[in-house]
Formats: sequence, C-alpha cells, structure tokens
Amino acid sequence: MLEESYRKAAIEAVLNAMRLCENVRGKLDSGASMEKADLSPVTVADFGAQAVVLHALHQAFPDIPAVGEEDASDLRGEENAALCERVVAEVNAVTPGRDADSVLAAIDRGNHPGGPKGRFWTLDPIDGTKGFLRKDQYAVALALIEDGVPVFGVLGCPQLPVQWTEPDGARGCLFVAQKGKGCQQLDASGQLVDPVRVDMVVDASEAAFCESVESGHSKHDWSAAVAERLGIARDSVRMDSQCKYAAIARGDASIYLRLPTRPGYEEKIWDHAAGCLCVQLAGGRVTDITGADLDFSQGSTLKNNRGVIATNGHLHDEVVAAVQATQA
Ligand code: AMP
Ligand code: MG
Repeated sequence: MLEESYRKAAIEAVLNAMRLCENVRGKLDSGASMEKADLSPVTVADFGAQAVVLHALHQAFPDIPAVGEEDASDLRGEENAALCERVVAEVNAVTPGRDADSVLAAIDRGNHPGGPKGRFWTLDPIDGTKGFLRKDQYAVALALIEDGVPVFGVLGCPQLPVQWTEPDGARGCLFVAQKGKGCQQLDASGQLVDPVRVDMVVDASEAAFCESVESGHSKHDWSAAVAERLGIARDSVRMDSQCKYAAIARGDASIYLRLPTRPGYEEKIWDHAAGCLCVQLAGGRVTDITGADLDFSQGSTLKNNRGVIATNGHLHDEVVAAVQATQA
C-alpha cells in the first residue's frame, strides 16, 4: 500500500518544479541551454527541476532511489559555471536556502539503474525540452515503480489548457495517478479539478489522434498511413511531451501513436511511466506497436518494446492491427 505521504510530497515537489520551469520559460535566452553529448538540448530548467524534485523526495524518502534523465557532470565543468550559477539561483527562487553543492548532489541522485526489483522513482524533469524551448507543450513527469510496474505517477503540464475546448483559457494541469485511486486532474495550485476518464469513441474514423511534433521521435508518414487505414480524415494533433498521454487520459484525443523512426532506439522509462499510468487508470490501454505491455523492469529503457500506442481502450486492438498492417 502506498502511504498518503507519497502523494503529498510528490505533488508538492512537482508543483515546485513546474513553477521553476515557468520562471525560466519567461526568460529563455541562449545562455539558458546547452547541448548534451547526444546533441539533444538541456536547459537551466531541466537541471533545476531535477534538483528540486530529487531533493524533496530524498528528504521525505531517503531510502528510495531515483532514475532521472539528467546528471550534473556537465554543470561541474568550468565552461558551464554561468549555467550552473543560474540553476542554483532558479532552485533558490522556488525552494530557498540551497547552496551549489546541495543542488548538484540532488541532480546526481538520479543515478539509479532501475530494474525488476524494489521501489524507485523515475523522473523526467522536463519532458519535451524541444517543446519547452519553442514555448509549446512540455511536462514534468514523475513515477514510482514497484517491482518493475508503475504504481504512482504525477504528470505536471504547465502549459496544457485546463479545458481542451478552451485553448485560450487557463493553463497548467497536474495529473495524479495512483493504483487503486484512479487518475485525477488538479489545477496549477494543487486543487482537485476532476477525476479523469478516457473518451467513449468506438468508431476509429471519428477518433482524434496525437503524435510528437518532432519527426525524429515518431514517424509521421507511417502514422498518416495508419490514419488513412482507420478512415481518419482529420489531421493529427502534434504535441510535445507526455501531455499526449494526458490528452488520451482525459478524452481530448482517442489515439496516441509513437512509431519508431529507426531500428535500435530504446524508449526511456522516464518518458512513459507517469503518462502510461495516467492512461491506464483513466480506463485506457497502452502497449508497444506489437500489442505487448510496456516492460518497465529492464533498467532505464524499455528494451523489450518498440514504439508506443496509447488509446481509449475501445480502439486499441484495431489500432495495433492498423499499425502492423502499414509497417514498411
Ligand atoms: P516528444 O516530446 O513526444 O517528441 O518526446 C520527447 C522525448 O523523445 C525526449 O524526452 C527523448 O527522450 C525522446 N527521444 C529522443 N530520441 C528519440 C527517438 N529517436 N525516438 C523516440 N523518442 C526519442
Ligand atoms: Mg523526455
């Protein structure tokens, strides 16, 4: 059984990380980011959000390790001293009283390898960094994995409209999914908005489907072929980050396709654990493109899976079949 204290500490940690990200978002400049060894971008906010969340979780649950996307090695380099200083300042703006050593140590707490046994957190401090830099959608994604299975997830979506039908209305949502308690949407101050349920679409041709903005993360011409096969006439909704899982969970869309762009890419557990649990506990289904369950017991990647399909459940088998039938 999960103690209520997990819920409280994790929600507060993610809310603080969301505040930090939004503070940085308001003053993005070329000095706010750098390129990692794999050429993907990382920003003051990625490092800062990881420091905030892992520090809070370590204070509350010192025995539970974490698998985090970032580590502080680059920040320790002389050439990144200015970036490091900004990270420490942003962390202090939302959680005062932290010196540079404690901030760097907190970032480095995300070094657990994951695996099939025991409990660990997994964190993507900013999922969709490219979206964040474009000032589009991004998410702070935290999940607790127990014996290889996500059991608790907090997905913060600072720029997601509270109501999908009111894109110019209030923004900022938090989704909390806990086995046995379903999935709820909270607002940006942590107040309950609504329980979350998938939609009831049973005719695939009426489904809205979503996919990555980045064509390097999901194959757009393949998803177009899937849509054609399913009789879907409307364009896909392209959105960065695990906000796509949130969209399925609350019925904004019925299908999320993540179709491999190249052989050999292994999806990361922090890119899926929180979002996947939100969809499942909202009544939907999540598998890979072969219809197999996502296997979170294999370390930091989903090495037994290829791609991801998330749906409202009703359409799942039909969508998996269409993906298989259109595979090149
Ligand atoms: P999205 O916002 O849906 O485009 O997904 C963002 C995530 O895609 C990042 O957190 C990366 O970890 C992940 N990513 C990077 N390269 C790939 C790739 N080749 N295929 C799928 N996902 C990737
Ligand atoms: Mg990510």
